[in-house]
Amino acid sequence: MKQSPKSGETASIVRVAVPAPLRGHFDYLSQIGQVGQNLPQPGCRVRVQFGRRKLVAVVTAVGGESALDRKRLRPISETLDNTPVLGEALLELLDWAAGYYHHPIGEVYATALPVLLRKGEAAERRPQQNWRLTPAGSECEAQQFKRAPRQQQMWQALQQQPDGIPIEVLRQTAGYSAAVMNRLESAGYAEQITVAGKTPSVSVKRMAAPKLNAEQAESVAALSADSGFQCSLLEGITGSGKTEVYLALVEQALEAGKQVLILVPEIGLTPQLIARFSERLSTNLAVLHSGLNDRERLDAWLDARAGNAGVVLGTRSAVLTPLLRPGLIIVDEEHDASYKQQDGLRYSARDVAVRRAQLHDIPIILGSATPALESLQNALSGRYRHLRLHQRAGVAEKPSMRLLDLRSKQLSEGLSPVLLSSVQTHLDAGGQVLLFLNRRGYAPALVCHDCGWIAPCRRCDTGMTLHRGGRALCCHHCGAQRPPPEVCENCSGQELLAVGEGTERIAGALRGLFPGVPMARFDRDTLTRKGSLEERLQQVREGKVKLLVGTQMLAKGHDFPNLSLVGVVNADHGLFSADFRAFERMAQLVTQVAGRAGRGERAGEVLLQTRHPDHPLLRLLVAHGYHQFAQAALAEREAGGLPPFGYLALLQAESTQAASPAAFLDAAAQAAYDLNAPDVELWGPVPAPM
Ligand code: ADP
Ligand code: ZN
Ligand code: ZN
Repeated sequence: MKQSPKSGETASIVRVAVPAPLRGHFDYLSQIGQVGQNLPQPGCRVRVQFGRRKLVAVVTAVGGESALDRKRLRPISETLDNTPVLGEALLELLDWAAGYYHHPIGEVYATALPVLLRKGEAAERRPQQNWRLTPAGSECEAQQFKRAPRQQQMWQALQQQPDGIPIEVLRQTAGYSAAVMNRLESAGYAEQITVAGKTPSVSVKRMAAPKLNAEQAESVAALSADSGFQCSLLEGITGSGKTEVYLALVEQALEAGKQVLILVPEIGLTPQLIARFSERLSTNLAVLHSGLNDRERLDAWLDARAGNAGVVLGTRSAVLTPLLRPGLIIVDEEHDASYKQQDGLRYSARDVAVRRAQLHDIPIILGSATPALESLQNALSGRYRHLRLHQRAGVAEKPSMRLLDLRSKQLSEGLSPVLLSSVQTHLDAGGQVLLFLNRRGYAPALVCHDCGWIAPCRRCDTGMTLHRGGRALCCHHCGAQRPPPEVCENCSGQELLAVGEGTERIAGALRGLFPGVPMARFDRDTLTRKGSLEERLQQVREGKVKLLVGTQMLAKGHDFPNLSLVGVVNADHGLFSADFRAFERMAQLVTQVAGRAGRGERAGEVLLQTRHPDHPLLRLLVAHGYHQFAQAALAEREAGGLPPFGYLALLQAESTQAASPAAFLDAAAQAAYDLNAPDVELWGPVPAPM
């Protein structure tokens, strides 16, 4: 019900959602003189006085009546947008998310907005810095750059774009360094210009697609027949060419004038991946990753919203990017844990993506070599379409996988003699070797030999990890550090032992065992600087590194053709965990790590060290692969009534006073018992493990 814009008409009610942890909406009055067409529409931002603060709020409704007396309503302070920043479909998605994830609506809207829009800045692209050729540059010959291939490439790219190419496209998408640009400039061939705030269309040189194999072609055929909502699980072993399937479908969507949203795990959004997409598609790529500054993020977001970017490629939060002409959503490595946001609005980007596809009525593809058990069950039950790629594309062979029984073996720093001799064999044959261990640091625990006391973090009460060769204790939860105690803090015992192995310790051991073999460690302790992971991966690709030790950083997305042996130092992590998903995650990691081996012409070998070589699920995984394992694991879940066969809800309370959460949780439990729901099992309250 809109108020008619008669003169002398009273102000309209403008209902907004504010970015604060409050349920419900708040009513304001339109500004004086704001009638009819000038009223902010739903999805527009307004600035409002809220208590003592001025907040940027999002309009959810205009007109109608307020439950409050008009005299008590304040006028909005400022209207920030003439057209909605959040369109109708996105608002609907966000409303759904607020309900589904039990989160205050205003905070959900804020989550969907780039930081600068949250702060109230204009939803406009800033003027663009472009490089373009000078007249001299347009006339010169390729000859000129014989000794400077990068300059030549950039010169060629600029030749195809008389209006120039934005500097960040050159830098991020094509990877040209400042040095290359400056050399072209000082030679007088290229110059920087400022153009008004719109993205010039950039079509990047295309590279031809390989001929798809039969399974890939079948999948593409099945998927391209979709119009309207359909969720498909593309389950294809590592290296089976899923990305090629995506690329074929993206191309079709682009040809139909649609936009495609592609989500990848945090660790997967590498320059290689961006280059692969930009080489193969002629469209603007809007890339949304954590390395962008606020301005770059807003620009990419605006490009997506305006339809200037045909492909939006991003990590978790990109699932909420507005699209003008949505046509297809792809979630690569859909099982990846980084799709779950663990604080603020806790959501699963994969699930939000499925819901979004449903709202837009477009197809969505979930791809993985190791699908989440939930997704697999949806595929097996027929809710999702199930497509599989069983073979590796190209020449690569599937690696062979084997368990190494650690029981009663003489270990050097957790490494068995068989594993060590295999490392030697593969190194001798010129291959690269990766040892995978999902623990960083020197040793996971400092333990008293006399009483079993484990050095705890004083803030979180969890065990601390030894670092720097045992000279520091670090808490992996809160970051607290302290020197290790001289004696046991419980019994004053003198013998404190560094128990277990972390990447630091393994790397140290290998340095001693394989002197002279170039080695690199990949974990969050050694790769702190932005770009350092990329540099080190490049060294691996160039063969400058032979021995790799690392955490899950190494598990996915990297292609090392010369890698022939993968050793999983401890396959037992997750075998007996309190978290019912721990084994699933371990199986996914092991399978993904194994997928790194034998991607080139060299057949790969995968060795898993375990103290439980008879564990049925572990045996299944090794003998028959992830899919068979997953089916057995699903049967276990079903027997236990665990997800996806049952629902779990966790009510967690925290406070600075120990007593109040307990009282709250007791009251909540009582209220739940009183509901007397026959199908609901209640557990707890119990103290949180952390
Ligand atoms: P996935 O995404 O399933 O891990 P990719 O799409 O990255 O697999 O493919 C793995 C490798 O095989 C890549 O180097 C890719 O270029 C190559 N490849 C994929 N499909 C084909 C094909 N049909 N013919 C030749 N090579 C292919
Ligand atoms: Zn002790
Ligand atoms: Zn701590």
